[in-house]
Amino acid sequence: MTTGQRPGRRDRRRAVRVALAVGAVAVLVAVAVVVVPLLLPPGPRPPFQLPVPCGETWRLGTYPGHDDYDVDLFPTAGEAWGRPVLASHAGTVTVAGINGSLGGRTPDNPKGPRGRGGGYWVKIDHGGKWETQYLHLLEPPLVRAGQRVTRGEQLGRVGSTGNSGAPHLHYEQHRGWEKVETWFDGSPSGITQDDTEYSVTLTSNNCPAVQR
Ligand SMILES: [Zn+2]
Repeated sequence: MTTGQRPGRRDRRRAVRVALAVGAVAVLVAVAVVVVPLLLPPGPRPPFQLPVPCGETWRLGTYPGHDDYDVDLFPTAGEAWGRPVLASHAGTVTVAGINGSLGGRTPDNPKGPRGRGGGYWVKIDHGGKWETQYLHLLEPPLVRAGQRVTRGEQLGRVGSTGNSGAPHLHYEQHRGWEKVETWFDGSPSGITQDDTEYSVTLTSNNCPAVQR
């Protein structure tokens, strides 16, 4: 009597079951692709070098209210303005833009009214959950998001954009979601907290690979 309707209803039920099964598989795939990598432990620390040219000596310091592990770099000789900022290690640029605001500080007026945050900045993903950050650059970065960079490749130039009192490079190393003590050329910097003013002087070994 109702023979015309039953198969149609069964088809609809089967369609719903198939849709639910497809949805469940999609959720499992999403978990595998997104969640599992987040749970994996970080990889080994990459052999980071100072983010400044080979042979240059810079003072690395911090001060109360900076933030634990944050490092400010000032050259020990010559002007800071415009000095090359180099990648500490090979990786992929994930951010190249403006953090906070430039304030009145533009490439044409680098000493203008102070802005907020990091100003022109670059973030690099080195794989294994390791990242480095380079802040207060003078001008828009010389690299763009998604670009692969080699160790020693120039990212930008030292400036004072964002919330910065003087031209310098603010630099951080991150493991997972945490800032960690910066290491350079195989050794820890010793800059681990911002309770007191503290600085060390290091010479860059971010040198071109030897050609054979
Ligand atoms: Zn800083």
